[in-house]
Amino acid sequence: MSIADRIRRNPLYSLKMHAAAIATGLRYLFAKPRMTVRYPEYVIDLGRNYRGMIRLHKDKCISCSLCAQVCPASAMKMYKLPGEKKMYPGINYQRCIFCGFCVDICPVNALEHTPVHDIAEEDMEGMIYLPLPGRFDREWKSPAEEEGGRKVKVEFDEEEGLKHEPE
Ligand code: SF4
Ligand code: SF4
Repeated sequence: MSIADRIRRNPLYSLKMHAAAIATGLRYLFAKPRMTVRYPEYVIDLGRNYRGMIRLHKDKCISCSLCAQVCPASAMKMYKLPGEKKMYPGINYQRCIFCGFCVDICPVNALEHTPVHDIAEEDMEGMIYLPLPGRFDREWKSPAEEEGGRKVKVEFDEEEGLKHEPE
């Protein structure tokens, strides 16, 4: 039986699951090892090879559509926007699994992963990035960093969990 069916049959089941989730959160708030940093005060430096939000360099794109063809999640599609002569890719982050196939296959390096992942949109439509100025070609920045969060390199310690300097 699916979780949705269980909730339909017994609304108390939903309450029980929420209570269990809150209890888990509270347990890890105090328990060690801790696998988080104090975000947004600290932001983990994910390194150059992290597969985060993708940036399109439209000036390099040759409209070959390989990125859209290789995408296993149908997240990347080609769009011909008004006033454009060629098609360019756009990405739907509702579907993207950050596999990086599109970046790897691009013959002219027009797609680039960035180490930014802490992005939220207000609605589902906002998660679709068309090849418009300031959208798919935007220079991604972590909102936490923009508001003064400090980038830190972390190490894993068996006892303590994630550690970084300064604490
Ligand atoms: S990272 Fe993977 S899932 Fe996301 S758009 Fe590229 S190919 Fe598709
Ligand atoms: S694979 Fe690269 S060049 Fe080809 S359409 Fe995609 S972004 Fe453009």
